[in-house]
Order: sequence, then structure tokens, then C-alpha cells
Amino acid sequence: MSKIKMLNPIAELDGDEMTRILWKQIKEIVLEPFVELNTEYYDLGLRERDRTDDEITKHAAEAIRRLGVGVKCATITPNAGRMTEYDLKRMYPSPNGTLRAMLDGTVFRSPIIVPGLKSYIPGWVRPITVARHAYGDVYKAVEMAVPGKGKAELVFTGEDGVQRKTIYEFSGKGILQGMHNRLDSIESFARSCFEYALDTKQDLWFSSKDTISKIYDETFRETFQRLYDSEYKSRYEAAGITYFYTLIDDAVARCVKSQGGFVWAMKNYDGDVLSDMISSAFGSLALMTSVLVCPGGQYEYEAAHGTVTRHYYRYLKGEKTSTNPMATLFAWTGALRKRGEKDGNADLASFADRLEKAAIDTIVSGTVTGDMAALYNGACTVVDSESFLKAIAEKL
Ligand code: NAP
Ligand code: MG
Repeated sequence: MSKIKMLNPIAELDGDEMTRILWKQIKEIVLEPFVELNTEYYDLGLRERDRTDDEITKHAAEAIRRLGVGVKCATITPNAGRMTEYDLKRMYPSPNGTLRAMLDGTVFRSPIIVPGLKSYIPGWVRPITVARHAYGDVYKAVEMAVPGKGKAELVFTGEDGVQRKTIYEFSGKGILQGMHNRLDSIESFARSCFEYALDTKQDLWFSSKDTISKIYDETFRETFQRLYDSEYKSRYEAAGITYFYTLIDDAVARCVKSQGGFVWAMKNYDGDVLSDMISSAFGSLALMTSVLVCPGGQYEYEAAHGTVTRHYYRYLKGEKTSTNPMATLFAWTGALRKRGEKDGNADLASFADRLEKAAIDTIVSGTVTGDMAALYNGACTVVDSESFLKAIAEKL
């Protein structure tokens, strides 16, 4: 059989621990037998980040910017324990943080829906994709403990003078917090959301609390509406999808009663909290995918979970683990499909579709990894990661 060719490369970002093992197995078992892989390889494993003083992460971000498509393995974000475990020169920042800061993107998380796997909310038959604005608000807030009686004011010193508003006249002890956001960041977030929903042909929801926050949240609402009216309305109508704004509390209530199948854009804090609620409700972290969509049109695909450290330590002792490779596999299919679409390479895009279908069919026909057995309706066979991937290759 002749292999499918890739006209242009994608950036391949390798990672750490159990997901690094899965990475290699996925390539060998379900990709390389069918596709002549064309990648620019960047090793973001912690040892290589330490050896290059984290320069490798910046080179990888530049490669994604240049090539337009990247696929990333989960990586360790070092903490004090990792400093000793890997004898690191310094405590490097999270690679995902570095990539996001350099590429200025928005992260979209969506579940892989497999018929027959239980969801905690059975009405959700289609995925709900959460888009979280990852800049500002309470995450960049300045706080103060108020020691006693006094007046708190909001003061802005601009080029043309000073603006001042009273926050509160304290008669005793209290607390204060100052938050900000930037219009360019809100606009680029809104644009990524409009583009992603168009790309995946799903409705877009945005929610905030503009009835209470009449300048701050209203600016978010107004920015989405302005971009929709001026740049996206006709494209959305042509694609048969809608943009919908509602209050955050109304959105939460509607979401629970919905069947899924939409993208939900949220402010930073709302997205932090609700993305965890939605991913747990869909059942398994190992079935949650994630893509960074950049305003420059670049896409970086990965799994939402980490490096599955506990399984890795068992693997190091010689055990064959039953770690779920689905989300990492879908990161690859996402990247290959996008490469195919960008290059007009229909064979590559359809390979990605067929590989995803083979993976889902493998689960439906009863071959699963350990984490999925608990969610499975009926009898199933639990196999190790390698056997699971071989079963997928056979279906394919
Ligand atoms: P984790 O790697 O996501 O694993 C947490 C637990 O979830 C695992 O112990 C396992 O539970 C279960 N799990 C996650 N993925 C699974 C899979 N594919 N198959 C089966 N079970 C799975 O999170 P963590 O333990 O908090 O973090 C480990 C390392 O990953 C840390 O160094 C962290 O910095 C890094 N991390 C990286 C990223 C990223 O690169 N995007 C994201 C998060 C964390 P059981 O042990 O009960 O089976
Ligand atoms: Mg959270």
C-alpha cells in the first residue's frame, strides 16, 4: 500500500513521562504505517528544556507560527519536587504558558463523544466546547487589605489628566481589589472564538454579567457584538450557524438542558470554573481534547490531560499500563486534518476522519483502556495502551 503524502510539515512538540511513551506508540502503530509523516520535531521533554535553557520552547512556538499547524504532547510544568527529580538549573515556566504568550491564542477544549460511554448528563449527545479568555481579570488583579476607616478610590492617571471614582467609604477594616483587561486582548479573544465556531460549524455562545457590570462586562459584550455585526454576520448566515449572547446565569441553566453541539466563550474566571465542571460531566479527562487557536490563523492541538505521572512510574517498573491514548491520538488527527485542509490535501484530511472513526468504533465494539471500563455500558475487554492502539490499526 502506498502511504499518504504530506505536502507541508507540521510542528511536532514531544513531551514527558507516560504521554511521551504514548506519543511514540501512536506514531509507530497508527500513523507511520499509513502516512509519510512530515514534521519539524521539537523535543519539549523537561531534560531538553533544561539543556537549552528553555530556548527549545520558543523555537517550537516560532515553528508553529511559520508552519501554521502544530501538535503537542503533554509536558511537565516543574515545581519544587521536579527541581530535584530532574536536577534542573531553574524552575522553568509552563510550556503551554510560553506558547500561548508567544502565539496570543485562545484555548478551546472539547470532549470526544463515544456512543455507549456514560455521561453524567445524558442529554449532552454532542460536544460542548469551552473557550476561556486567558488574560486579565482576577488573575492579574491587585489586592489590598484595608486596615481601618478611610476612603477607597479608583484613580486613572492618563496623558490628558486624572479620572477619579470613589469605590467605598470604609468605617472599619475591609478588603479591596483592582482588576483590568485590555481591548486588544478582548478583540483577539472574540476573533478566535468567531473563527473557531465557523471552522467547526457550531453555534457560538458568549455570556457575561453585563447587567451588573455596566462598563467592564458590557465592554466584552459590546466587543463581541461589534465584531459580529461588522465582520462575521454574513459568514455565519451563509454557514447556517448563529452567534448568541446571554447572561452567564441564563447560559448555565440553558447549557444543562441543551443537547450540546456549541462553542461557549467565557471570561477568564467563568471559563476556569465551568471548563472543569463541563469536562468532569462528560466523564473523563482522558477524552478531552484541546486546541490553541491563534488570531494569525495558526492551530496547535493537544490533549487536555497531563503527563499521567502515576502510570509512568508503574511503566518504569516494567508494568504494561492501560493509559488512554485517545486525547493524544485526536491531537494528531486534529493537526493532520488541519494540515490537509490548509494544503488542499483531501487524502490526508480523510485519513484523519477515518482514524478517528476507527478509534471510536474500537471502543464501541468493546475494546477499552481501564479508565473507560468504568464508563462503559455493558461488557468490555480492558487492554493495555499498545494493544488498544493495535486494535485501532486493525479496524483502520
Ligand atoms: P494528569 O497527568 O492529567 O493525571 C491525573 C490523573 O488523571 C492520572 O493519575 C490518571 O488517574 C488520570 N488520567 C489523566 N490522563 C489519563 C489518561 N490518558 N489515561 C488514563 N488516566 C488518565 O495530571 P497530574 O497528575 O496533575 O499532572 C501530571 C503532570 O502533568 C504534571 O507534571 C503537570 O505539570 C503536567 N501537566 C501538563 C499539562 C499539559 O502539558 N497540557 C496539563 C496538565 C498537567 P489514575 O492515576 O487514577 O489512573
Ligand atoms: Mg480550573
